[in-house]
Amino acid sequence: MLELSHVQVFHGPIEAVHGISINVAQGQCVVLLGPNGAGKTSTLSAIAGIAQYRGAINFLGNNLVSASIEDRQRAGIALVPEGRRIFSNLSVRENLVIGAATRNNRSAVLKDIEHWFEAFPVLGERRHQMAGTLSGGEQQMLTIARALMSRPEILLLDEPSLGLAPLICQQVFRLIAELKESGMTILLVEQNVRDALELADYVYLLNTGQVTQEGDHSLFGDDTNLMAELTGIH
Ligand code: ATP
Repeated sequence: MLELSHVQVFHGPIEAVHGISINVAQGQCVVLLGPNGAGKTSTLSAIAGIAQYRGAINFLGNNLVSASIEDRQRAGIALVPEGRRIFSNLSVRENLVIGAATRNNRSAVLKDIEHWFEAFPVLGERRHQMAGTLSGGEQQMLTIARALMSRPEILLLDEPSLGLAPLICQQVFRLIAELKESGMTILLVEQNVRDALELADYVYLLNTGQVTQEGDHSLFGDDTNLMAELTGIH
C-alpha cells in the first residue's frame, strides 16, 4: 500500500534520513523504532508531504512526488503528529468537524462523528467540552479520532504514548489494537518498545537516518541486548 524507496529526507540543508526503504501492506501495523534523532518523525513528515525528500514514496500505486499535503490527505494519508495538537479553544465535537475538512458530504461526516463518539465514549461524554480541558490521554484519543474523520486508508501515528501515564498508555495501545483489528493500516512510531512490538506485523529499526535492522517482532524477541538498548531496561 505504502512503499518508500531510497528516501532521503531534508530539513533545509540537513539530510535527516539517508535513503531508507520501507513497505507497509494493507491492514498491517508496521512499527518504526529507534533512538531520539534517528529520523522517525522526519520519515512520517515526508510521507505526509510536510518535509522535503528525494527518492520515491508510492501510495496505492501512485508516486506522491508532486502531491501537496492536502492531496495526500485526500488520497487517504492521515498523520497524528507528536504532541497532541488539538484546538484547545474548540469543543471536542468541533475538533472532529475540522478533521473532516477534506470531505464535503455533511451527513456522512455527522454520522462518522456519532460513530467515533460511540467508539470513544470518553469523547462522546465530553462532546461539548473545550478540548483544552481534556486530560492528556483524552486529548490523544481526540487527535486520533480527528485523524480518522478524514476516513484515511493509512494512519501515521507519531509517538502516541509519549508523556502519558502507564495506565493511559495502555488505553491508547488498546485503541490502536482495536483500529488494527478493524482493518486499519497503521505506521506507528514509538519509544514504548514492548507495547509497540505487541502490535507490530513488521518492524524497522532506524538509527542515524538509516534502517539498521528489520523483521517481524521475533527479530527482537531473543536479542536482550538490543531490547535493553531500545527500552533502557537492563
Ligand atoms: P525523536 O524521537 O527525538 O523525535 P526522531 O527519530 O523522530 O527523534 P527526527 O525528529 O526525525 O528523529 O530527527 C532526525 C534528525 O533531523 C535529527 O538530527 C534532528 O535534529 C534533525 N531535525 C529534525 N527536524 C528538524 C528541523 N525542523 N530542522 C532541522 N533539523 C531537524
